Amino acid sequence: MKIVTRISELPHDVGTSVGLVPTMGGFHDGHLQLMKTARAERDLVVVSLFVNPTQFGPSEDFERYPRDRDKDAALAKKVGVDILFAPEVGEIYPRPGTTVHVPVVSTHWEGASRPGHFAGVATVVCKLFNIVRPEVAYFGLKDLQQCLVISRMVEDLNIPVRVSLQPTVREADGLALSSRNVYLTEEERQLGPLIFQQLTACKQLLHSSILTHDQIDEALKQSKVKLEDAGFRVDYFELIELATAHSTRSTSMPTALIAAAQLGKTRLIDNILL
Ligand code: AMP
Repeated sequence: MKIVTRISELPHDVGTSVGLVPTMGGFHDGHLQLMKTARAERDLVVVSLFVNPTQFGPSEDFERYPRDRDKDAALAKKVGVDILFAPEVGEIYPRPGTTVHVPVVSTHWEGASRPGHFAGVATVVCKLFNIVRPEVAYFGLKDLQQCLVISRMVEDLNIPVRVSLQPTVREADGLALSSRNVYLTEEERQLGPLIFQQLTACKQLLHSSILTHDQIDEALKQSKVKLEDAGFRVDYFELIELATAHSTRSTSMPTALIAAAQLGKTRLIDNILL
C-alpha cells in the first residue's frame, strides 16, 4: 500500500476501475467493511484519510478528533487498500474557495443541528471525486443523511460517480460503530445500544399494523422519553422520507427512522431503514 499526501502523487488515467472510500480516520470495522467491499469489487482501491475542518462547527471536536495515521495505515494495508490518500489541510484547501450547497435533504436534522456541516461534507466529497476520479464511491448508511446529501449532489451536478451505500456495522449489542465511541465512558458505553433498541422497537410497531398519524407521533414521543429517562439528551427521533429527508407520517414510500442524542460529551447518531 502506498501512502500519498500530495494530489500530484496520485496516479492519473490508471485505466482501471477505481473505488474510493472517503474517511476521516479512526478506523473501525465500519470503515474496514467499506474497504473490503471496494477491494472485492474494484481493481484499484483508494481510501482518503482527511479530518475535514469545514464540516466541523466552532464548538465541535475538530481538535480532539481521534487521529492515528500509522495505526489507520496498518489496518488499511491489512484489508488490501492500494492507496491511502492522507493530505494536509492546505493541500485540499489552498485558499478559501468554491463550496457546494445541497438543497432539501441537508436542511433538517444534522443540517439544522450542525450549521454548515453538510456544505463542508459536500464540498470535500466533490473535491475528492474530482481528485481521485473513482468509478464507484463507498459510503456507510450509518450516516444516512450524509448518504442522501451525496446522492443528491451526484444527481444534481451529473457527477460521473456511482454511489454505493453499505449497511451499518454494529457492536454485538447493537451500538453502531463510530470513531466517536472512544469518547464514551464505561457507563455511557453500556447505555449506548438503547438508541438502536428504540429504533428497532419503533420499526416493529410501525410494521405491526397501519398506524394513524397521531399513533406514529405517540410512538416517536415514547421512544424519545425512554431515551431521555435513561440519561440521553435527544436532539431528534423522527420518521423521514428518503426522497427529501423531511419528516413524514406515511410509510407508503421509502422511509427511515433516524435519531441523534447526546450522551455525556458524545453525540451519537443512528437510523434504521423501513
Ligand atoms: P467517517 O470517518 O466517520 O467520516 O466515516 C467514513 C465512512 O465510513 C462514511 O461513509 C461513514 O458513513 C462510514 N461509517 C462510519 N461508521 C460506520 C458503521 N458503523 N457502519 C458502516 N459504515 C460506517
